[in-house]
Amino acid sequence: MLVSPSAVVSMYPAINRYHDSWSETFVHHAEVWLVDFLTSFKRRPSEIGVSKLCCRGCHVWFTTINDKIVQGGGVSLWTVSGTHGKNYPWAKDSTSRHSEAEQSMLNDVYDQVTKLLDSIHPLKMDSDDESETGEAQ
Ligand SMILES: [Zn+2]
Repeated sequence: MLVSPSAVVSMYPAINRYHDSWSETFVHHAEVWLVDFLTSFKRRPSEIGVSKLCCRGCHVWFTTINDKIVQGGGVSLWTVSGTHGKNYPWAKDSTSRHSEAEQSMLNDVYDQVTKLLDSIHPLKMDSDDESETGEAQ
């Protein structure tokens, strides 16, 4: 059973303080930065030449932007060579013109975290007043 992001936060409130002990530097990935930059000049979507496959976060970001273009009747899409599917530190940009894509990336991270948490310790909703020890009384 997958849980919602709010359920994860309520069950694991310390997750909101993750940044207090974070030692990693987050960066805005080049391909995302480039599309944000080109979009600010109203450039048409095109192929983005990067020497490596995109990370999972960038792939989700591009997929969201391209889905929005298609929904709006557009035919030109932002194209990259593909994704290796790995996660890397990924910085959001509050000035991005693609906030919906950044939200999709955030939702994808939440989905991955909830699946991981469920695989380690499935959340069980307890609606009765029985003992939590699992021992018979
Ligand atoms: Zn990336």
